[in-house]
Amino acid sequence: MQLYNSLSHKKEEFIPREAGKVSMYTCGPTVYHYAHIGNLRSYIMEDILEKYLRFTGLDVKRVMNITDVGHLTSDGDTGDDKMLKGAKREHKTVMEIAKFYTDAFFADCAKLNIKTPDVVVPATTYIDEFIRVISVLMDKGYAYEAGGNIYFDTSKLEKYYVFNDFKEEDLAVGVREGVEEDGNKRNKADFVLWFTKSKFDDQELKWESPWGVGYPGWHIECSCISMKNLGDYLDIHCGGIDNAFPHHTNEIAQSEAYLGHEWCNYWFHVHHLNTNSGKMSKSSGEFLTVSLLEEKGYDPLVYRFFCLQSHYRKSLVFSWENLDNAKVTFDKLIAKIAPLTADKSGDIDKAEYDRLMAAFNEALGNDINTAMGITVLYDVLKSGANNATKLALIGKFDEVLGLDLIKKAEAKASSADETPDIPAEVMELVEQRKAARKEKNFALADELRDRIAALGYEIKETREGTQINKL
Ligand code: AMP
Ligand code: ZN
Repeated sequence: MQLYNSLSHKKEEFIPREAGKVSMYTCGPTVYHYAHIGNLRSYIMEDILEKYLRFTGLDVKRVMNITDVGHLTSDGDTGDDKMLKGAKREHKTVMEIAKFYTDAFFADCAKLNIKTPDVVVPATTYIDEFIRVISVLMDKGYAYEAGGNIYFDTSKLEKYYVFNDFKEEDLAVGVREGVEEDGNKRNKADFVLWFTKSKFDDQELKWESPWGVGYPGWHIECSCISMKNLGDYLDIHCGGIDNAFPHHTNEIAQSEAYLGHEWCNYWFHVHHLNTNSGKMSKSSGEFLTVSLLEEKGYDPLVYRFFCLQSHYRKSLVFSWENLDNAKVTFDKLIAKIAPLTADKSGDIDKAEYDRLMAAFNEALGNDINTAMGITVLYDVLKSGANNATKLALIGKFDEVLGLDLIKKAEAKASSADETPDIPAEVMELVEQRKAARKEKNFALADELRDRIAALGYEIKETREGTQINKL
């Protein structure tokens, strides 16, 4: 398969180091708030990559960290501690916040059919490992102590800016945010491996270390968690595009300095979900969650479908109108599959199956072209193959796409059978309620639900569509 590699800036044939096996690492969430649907775009597309690798017969081991310490708001070494910020906001301890938002993250992932990685490691459980690796970096002369903190010395590397040509002035992130520069750094690009002189008086999480009581920098966690669980060589490292610098750049610096050889072969970066007013971010406080989509009556899988309609290396603009369009298309797609489920008899037409399967592989195997993969799904529906062949293909594609296509189609087919029993008066109100919800007139939608209830029926918007039951 062809995969774009941010390291080489081009599409390359993906060849795992060990035949048949893939080691894959994903930067996990910083658990100080709910994941927003931008974060989840990255996890959806990484999930597709993992599932497609498995689909081609590769044995994937995927590892993810949970950032519950060390991540500052600038992504560098300046700004507030994100976890502390979350804890203060909610008057809870950092660990309480971490537990709550880790659970919330995996609950959101489950709703979006994102598989949980094989190994998930909260950073706070690996402190000894961070200290061990930092000690090796100190012994090898790649790290130094200044003002009580331990820094990575980027001047010791032949090439630091591996992904792009960042200039020194671009690095003044903290300065831009009005935060003072760290005068302890020998070089502007140096970064903290271990903080002992925390500028946060109320630093809650801290541990003993050879350099004093403190806590790890953010970047070291991913290097250590990856190397400990996946070994000294990594096939694919994933993350959102904002992670490429400084986070992934620093991960490469530390890991390769520690190992003494090249570390990861392929870097997979998902581009951002933006709104019309810019990048969706957790720190700005204005972001959309899966729960909000559900409250507004959207099935989370409509959002997954929306993401799959565009390529992961293009930024994607979110708007309610765009999501509505995806919903209409998705509902129509399910409605097209639904009648196939009524008669599954007959043998699979092998020639058609192979032809359409090859087209799907060509799409996904071309740098995970999910939009093209969905087009092949329509080609299946349009083809002259029998229902059994079509359903076999759709079911197989859905192992990668993760849209519950057959399940939803079956639910749709059976709900269509039940609908005729419902009085026309109720159905009319149901349609009016649908329209009100579409226009986001939730007050009217609520009123219509009450009127439907007064006629003895209950209406529910579920993942499978609208359900109407007798009370
Ligand atoms: P965080 O929880 O902030 O550490 O981010 C979790 C993941 O979401 C990282 O891989 C980020 O690169 C990614 N990410 C952050 N913002 C966006 C966005 N607007 N669109 C897509 N991915 C994002
Ligand atoms: Zn990371």
